[in-house]
Amino acid sequence: MPKIYFIDVTNRDGVQTAKIGLSKLEKTMINIYLDEMGIFQSEFGFPTTKHESNYLQANLELAEMGVIKNIRLEGWIRAIVADVETAFRLVHSIKHLNLSISTSEQMIQGKFQGRKNREDIINDMIQAVDAAWAHGVKTIGVNAEDASRTELDYLIRFGLAAKEHGANRLRYCDTLGYDNPFTIYETARALAEEVKLPIELHCHGDLGMAVATSLAGAKGAIDGGQDAYINTTINGIGERAGNADLVATMLAVTKSKGFAEKYKLGGTVDLSKAWEIAKYTSYSFDVPIPINQPGVGGNVFAHESGIHADGVLKDPENYELYGFEELGRGEPELVDTGREISAGEYSGISGFSHVMGQMAVSFSSKEEAQEVLELVRYANVQAHKPLVEDELLFIAKYPEIAKKLLTLVPLA
Ligand SMILES: [Zn+2]
Repeated sequence: MPKIYFIDVTNRDGVQTAKIGLSKLEKTMINIYLDEMGIFQSEFGFPTTKHESNYLQANLELAEMGVIKNIRLEGWIRAIVADVETAFRLVHSIKHLNLSISTSEQMIQGKFQGRKNREDIINDMIQAVDAAWAHGVKTIGVNAEDASRTELDYLIRFGLAAKEHGANRLRYCDTLGYDNPFTIYETARALAEEVKLPIELHCHGDLGMAVATSLAGAKGAIDGGQDAYINTTINGIGERAGNADLVATMLAVTKSKGFAEKYKLGGTVDLSKAWEIAKYTSYSFDVPIPINQPGVGGNVFAHESGIHADGVLKDPENYELYGFEELGRGEPELVDTGREISAGEYSGISGFSHVMGQMAVSFSSKEEAQEVLELVRYANVQAHKPLVEDELLFIAKYPEIAKKLLTLVPLA
């Protein structure tokens, strides 16, 4: 029986969201948390974008060092040969790629304005796939942008061409969130049956259905005999109305009525990291978690009205589908209400040593402490807010990697 896997795209779709962003250290921490959570793959960035190069290389190094253990780190580029060449020039050790190109008539006409027709699109894609193999890539996903507004026959032809050139997966992009669960089920199933490649579901929330369409699409792929790879972002942060939220989708797959009896996750996913990753990402993006967000919202386990409070006290299952402990919630959070010393871009050694000492970190010499402080200052310049404990520990533990992450050299 085919299985469901998660590919998180926070570090690609999430960061390309208007008005918000992440520092390279924050993107790195997210890869580490996703790895700890058991997520199959992180779409960790843009290999053709110069300011990403150091970050991408550094994360591939973290994977080699075993700091990032199991998660696959994959880069997103356009499905054209020029992008493949640039990607390998800037990030020579990249091993996993998703190649993306628009397939709908709307976008072929609207974006290329007569410069490309459908056959050109397929040709560009297969040439890019061939070029990526020639550079020694290990896996390739091919993305059909705006697939939900693409004619099915053409989409099948596109998928078959990708398969013929060795692509490992076909990404069905519901780029505008146009699908509903019924339509995406039919299309994903047809693609799985006809193309016979694992299907990625990339769903957006413009009509408020990203999680539902992800689930229905996964069901379609599996009923069609293929593995399903659901694309998510943490807290649903993504272009416009966002993407399928990671935690909500995990809950939907594992807890919704009868679904998990037939449709199973590949590998082990640790839901108990949900709270930590959602909180961290909210802090990093500086976007609060809505009180009613599935699993991690402030009100998800709050009960006030008489009948509900009485019911949940008698038996939580009266009014709760899942327990807060499963999501890693329940620990009291300590907030300093007195004197606070934080480490920032203008910190000195005394305050910094105090902060690190509170986390039981000691340095072998004054020089070492000074060096780590210098990196922490730089990290603050990029993040514009106090670093969290895990970030400080990361810098203290891997100063060389941190240095790489923090090095931005424009126009080099
Ligand atoms: Zn997207």
